[in-house]
Amino acid sequence: MLDLIIRGGMVVAPEGAAELDVGVQDGRIAVVAQPGTLDIEAGRTIEASGKHVLPGGIEPHTHIGIPVPRNWAGRAEVVTQPPEAASRAAAFGGVTTMVDFSGSLSIQPGEAPAAGPIMQQVEDRRDAFAGHSYIDYTFHHILSGAVSPATIGQIGEAIQSGVASFKIFTTFNASRVPYGSLWEIFQEVSRHGGIMAVHAEDDDIVTHMEEKLVREGRDQGYNLHLVHNNISEDLAFRQVLRLANHTETGIYFVHTTAKEGVAAIAEARLRQQPVYGEALHNYLEFTCDDYRKPGGTAIHTYPAIKFADDRDALQEGLADGSLCTTATDEYTTYKDVKLSGDTILTVCGGHNGIETRMAVTYAKLAASGRISLERFADITSTNAAKILGMYPQKGAIAVGSDADIVIFDPSLHKTITLDDLHADSDYSIWEGFECLGYPVMTILRGKVIVEDGQLTGSSAGGRWISRRVAPGVLARPIC
Ligand SMILES: [Zn+2]
Repeated sequence: MLDLIIRGGMVVAPEGAAELDVGVQDGRIAVVAQPGTLDIEAGRTIEASGKHVLPGGIEPHTHIGIPVPRNWAGRAEVVTQPPEAASRAAAFGGVTTMVDFSGSLSIQPGEAPAAGPIMQQVEDRRDAFAGHSYIDYTFHHILSGAVSPATIGQIGEAIQSGVASFKIFTTFNASRVPYGSLWEIFQEVSRHGGIMAVHAEDDDIVTHMEEKLVREGRDQGYNLHLVHNNISEDLAFRQVLRLANHTETGIYFVHTTAKEGVAAIAEARLRQQPVYGEALHNYLEFTCDDYRKPGGTAIHTYPAIKFADDRDALQEGLADGSLCTTATDEYTTYKDVKLSGDTILTVCGGHNGIETRMAVTYAKLAASGRISLERFADITSTNAAKILGMYPQKGAIAVGSDADIVIFDPSLHKTITLDDLHADSDYSIWEGFECLGYPVMTILRGKVIVEDGQLTGSSAGGRWISRRVAPGVLARPIC
């Protein structure tokens, strides 16, 4: 007796996409079989013919329930939407695991980095999510500022405890980690088998352009791409890659935004350096021209949305394998906060994207056949699981894996409207976007959590995921 059988769908399994039946028992995938050959009773049978049966979406980059800097929000004590709301929106969007952050969560100018032992900070974050998430969650740990030797000394223990990835910024006020500290961190993370998640911008270029545009009266928000620019990404990515090469450290570049960034990653991968790049789904659609529309900076997430050829390079990178994952930089606020700041120094980062990523990515790349269904599963789930140390527990429809599954209907074409979305927000940059396929059912560890537009899961249902990066991931590019 199985708990659940999903029959007749186009299943993306590790061996490729094929029509298969999937059996689930005790929250895990118990059997994957040729259609019609599963002669076992099941508590429930789901008919999925004509639909895609994919590994549940993994969102590798979210900022949930954290303080919004005063200079972005225009007032104090604004917080991004809490885990309950973000995970609810995620579940509707086909996402079953999200990777948020522990450690120094605030990028408020002048704010001190997080204090206390790394594992205490991780525990605090687990407490904030426990009982409040419809989907599973885990955290990159943020190290910021001039990280102390004592903190660096705790990295090994954290990795042993299931914290596989560490995030650093090379810019952003007090969050910026100077290169000396970075060198020490890279060595320690490499030694213990972790991976670095890097927000790479050249701080000198960014600061220089901020001062220059303010001086010249050109500090309007629609000039953000001149501050967080292509040269900055080129310099920063290459410097990080050199440091990673010297220290034999695996790198996961969050939000690659420019053709120069894609090229730096592709060249390093050709040299067999273990480097992986992420693209945000808003960068696959918009360009800096869109900043000039009324309310146009709503599309902005840091670094900055650039030109048409950068957008095309990101799409091509996801198609040709130079880039590995899609993410959102989920950071949901209400519209008044998002549009409060309108200068290069005050535009609020992030957007409410966790629900739209899979459908938008499908429409941009998969619906036309530009990428295969297998590749779609890779860049929305499997690769993030591999790179960040959750595979094959997550990111696979294979015997023994968690039964995290999204059933995606390629014939369900719909135009996104705010009414269809489930975040704690009152705007969407995706209003009017034409989806060419949409998630219709989300299953977390064998339990249906969204079905027919209804939330059937529980906010007590999500669990923290312990992670460990496979050595091969850190030896050479594996996806
Ligand atoms: Zn981010």
